[in-house]
Formats: sequence, C-alpha cells, structure tokens
Amino acid sequence: TGGTEEAEDIEGVEKVQTRVTHSIVFVTSEAAPYSKTGGLGDVCGSLPIVLAARGHRVMVVSPRYLHGGQADKNYAGASELDCHIKVYCFGGEQEVAFFHEYREGVDWVFVDHPSYHRPGNPYGDSRGAFGDNQFRFTLLCHAACEAPLVLPLGGYTYGEKCLFLVNDWHAGLVPVLLASKYRPYGVYKDARTILVIHNLAHQGVEPAATYTNLGLASEWYGALGWVFPTWARTHALDTGEAVNVLKGAIVTVDRILTVSKGYAWEITTVEGGYGLHELLSSRRSVLNGITNGIDICEWNPSSDKHLASNYSVDDLSGKVQCKIALQKELGLPIKPDCPLIGFIGRLDYQKGIDLIRWAIPELLEDDVQFVMLGSGDPLYEEWMRATESTYRDKFRGWVGFNIPISHKITAGADILLMPSRFEPCGLNQLYAMRYGTVPVVHGTGGLRDTVQAFDPYSKGGLGEGTGWIFSPLSKESMLAALRVAIMTYRDHKSSWEGIMKRGMEKDSTWENAAVQYEQVFEWAFIDPP
Ligand code: ADP
Repeated sequence: TGGTEEAEDIEGVEKVQTRVTHSIVFVTSEAAPYSKTGGLGDVCGSLPIVLAARGHRVMVVSPRYLHGGQADKNYAGASELDCHIKVYCFGGEQEVAFFHEYREGVDWVFVDHPSYHRPGNPYGDSRGAFGDNQFRFTLLCHAACEAPLVLPLGGYTYGEKCLFLVNDWHAGLVPVLLASKYRPYGVYKDARTILVIHNLAHQGVEPAATYTNLGLASEWYGALGWVFPTWARTHALDTGEAVNVLKGAIVTVDRILTVSKGYAWEITTVEGGYGLHELLSSRRSVLNGITNGIDICEWNPSSDKHLASNYSVDDLSGKVQCKIALQKELGLPIKPDCPLIGFIGRLDYQKGIDLIRWAIPELLEDDVQFVMLGSGDPLYEEWMRATESTYRDKFRGWVGFNIPISHKITAGADILLMPSRFEPCGLNQLYAMRYGTVPVVHGTGGLRDTVQAFDPYSKGGLGEGTGWIFSPLSKESMLAALRVAIMTYRDHKSSWEGIMKRGMEKDSTWENAAVQYEQVFEWAFIDPP
C-alpha cells in the first residue's frame, strides 16, 4: 500500500498522474475457478486479476475445499507453503496450513484444514447446510488475518499496511478481529477494511452462546450481539439473543460496498434490509454501490469454447446454430424460429422460481420452448423433473450445477428470464446481453440498474433499450412482459436485432468497476479507522 504509478499520457497531453497502489487482501468463501456456487465466486475470481493488472499487489484468501470430485483438480497448481499456524477458537487450538498459486498477477492463497475436505459444495450437501459452518469460516477469518503478516509471497510479506476486502458474512469476522485482537496491540493500525455485501439475506446468525467460540474478547460481544424479532423466536422462553457476524462487520469496517447502486439503497429499507436496515442507514455515509463487471474472456460469444458456433455483434449467424445445438442436446424439437426462453440460477425463493412454476402452464400454451438450469431447493428440482415429463416438446429442466450448459443456454436462448424477488447485482442478465440474449427481469436491485427497458418509440422510432423490466413481482406482470418480448421476437425482427446488438455492445467490463473500487480505497485511507 502506498506505492505510486505514473499513468500514461492521455491523448497526447503530457500529464503525470499518480495512482496510488495498494496491498489488497480479498477474503472470501468462493473464488472461481477454484470454487463457485454463484456470483460471489465470479466476482472474487475476476476483480482481483483486474486490480492486479492495474498495479496493485493482490492476495485472495479462501478455503482449500476438497469435495472428492473433478473440481478438486482446480487446486492442482497450488503448492503447500512451509508455514503452519495455530488458530485459537472453539475452545482449542486448530492447526491450519496454507497453499499458494501465483496466477495472472494474483497470489491465490488457500487455507487448508480437514473441515474443508468433504463432499458437497462450500456450504453444505444434499442434507442441507453443514452444521459447523460457523467454525469453518471463523478459521478462515483468523487465518486470513495472519496471512499478510506471515506468508512470504514472492519473497516478502504483504505486511500490516494493507487493505482487507471482506466478502459477505463468511469473511465478516476479519474487521472485528482487526479492531479487537490486533489494533489494541499496535498491529494493523494503518490497515483498512472494506465489506462487500453480495447478499444480505445471509448473515451468519448463530445462538448467542456460540460467541465464546469465536476467539474474540468478551467486551466485543456488543458488536455482534443481535436480538431476533419476536415473530422469529421459536418458543416462549426464547429471548431471541444471537450473534450476527455480518452485523459485527458492518459495525467495525471502514467502508461498506454492495454490488449495485440500487441494492445499496434497497438494503437501507425495511423491505430489503433483513433486519439490518437501521444499522445500515446509520452507516450511510460510508455505504456505496458498485455494479459488478463480467469476465469478458470467459464470457465472449466470439471465442467461447462451449458453443457449437461462435458469433459476434457483426455476424450474428452463429447464434441460431447455438440454438439448434441446444435443442438437439436437450432433445427438444429443432425449431430455429420458435422463441426459446432460458433460466439459469439457484433454485431458491430469492430467484422467483415459484412465479415461473405458476406461469408455466399458461406460458406453454403458446408455441415457445423453455429451458431451465439450476440446483437448490429439492421441491423445485422435483417440480422441474415433473414439468419436463408433462411438456416433453416444450420444457427441459437440467438439475445440477453445470458451467458448460450455462454457456450453451446463454447463447442458445432468445430470452433470459430473471424474476428475482431481490437481486444484489445479478450476473446472468449481463452474460445474456453480451450473448445477444434479451433479458426479461423483475425491476429490482442490480437488474433494474443494468437492463434498460425497451422503448420502441424513442430515437425517432429506431428504439432504445436492452430488454424488458416488469413490476410488480406477479405472475401476470411477468407473463405480460414475456408476451411483449415474444411478440417483438416474432413480428418485429429489426427491433429485436436492435435490442440484441445494444445489449452486446454494452460495456460491462471490470475496468469500469475497478476504477470505482479504487476511489473507495482512497476514501478508506482518508478516513481514520
Ligand atoms: P447468485 O450469486 O445470487 O447466485 P448471480 O446472478 O450473481 O446470482 O450469479 C450466479 C452465477 O452462478 C452465474 O455465473 C451463473 O451462471 C452461475 N450459476 C448459477 N446456477 C448455475 C448452475 N446451475 N450451473 C452453472 N452455473 C450456475
């Protein structure tokens, strides 16, 4: 932190600008391609690389998950460092090791402990969430606090003057540990912490009695102390007392970010704040939103290796080949002109799957095809299987997490549906637009920020916009938006092509976001901790 870099001349004007570079430590439960269940993995797999390319020294600390499957090979390039540390928490001493891979300018650091080695995904398996997640992520936070001090990466440590970018509740103990365990002893006095909230619905809430396990001094209980509202208590004697890790982070961090501006506002409202709206409102002066970018190398229709045919905004002909290949692969009737609607995402209440479920019988009365990819709630997985056998010629539901299929649907569909109840940013609509697939989304959070509603009358009748936004969140308004989109696809080809092309040309690169992140880094260092 504190290095400077001379910027290049801008348009021939000789100008020496100095850009401050920092030592940045991401702490996260997921980082693609090593681990990913959703957008958090995408962000922590790509933003660090962009920041490193802009001159920062960047480390990403996440667990070394070994699930016993193919994905374990993702860690093949990481070797064990000669550094084991002892972490004191949960009533004992835990030994953790570190693995390291230097790739694309970033130090990828993996915390190794037996509790990360089990089948499933980072958070659970088919029986539900792991019961010891509080322990597993407490370990991660303690280890991440030590990493900049003890790991001689590339020959020297990151040191104390670093910037911790902590993501979601899993990393939320980091700023609390800095405030309570390190700074009182003169360590990390010049470090700064930024919390990035990717999804406020998950806060790391556990019974109050578990506080003593976290390895924090007792006088810091107030930072994490939390009381459930009466309606959420389980029985008459339940006092509602709990610890809330995300709350601890919100109280102790220097700055707070969310993954879109819309969501930054929503989390300060009763409806979107999941019980933390008042606290977040009280920290409004340090709260900002920065819309996620996308990895334009991984998501590029002109070079995507998963596609049957590549295409670009200048030559769209390959897109219909992708649609035909998708129909073939899924055993749907090959109908290049039939509107194909796609959905990709976690099968979770947040994603509005219930709305799709109610709408399917009416929607499939029309000559359309619908393809869903997702995993999550077993009820919805079962519904997808059942719907597939009811509508053999029109519906396919692929249950599972499958990255190649997600690319094939993104390219092969004409419309991508996202009826999310709330959506902090949403990445699939960004990928869809880049692939000329038109998003139809509920007007919430990052979806409202990134999709521009189609207006056929503006620009002298040429039209403007990149998709459709519906509101309120109801089956009727969703079906109405889908029907207008389908009608435009069938009957107004030139308008449709305009919508596709505007989406494909939209700049969603991380460069944009990285500049805004740097601005927040500057503010963090201006403010004293
Ligand atoms: P969230 O983080 O809430 O899950 P986002 O839209 O921000 O939602 O990010 C979801 C990411 O996970 C995208 O990259 C999406 O393609 C991917 N994804 C979600 N479900 C699946 C799946 N079943 N198979 C493959 N990729 C998936």
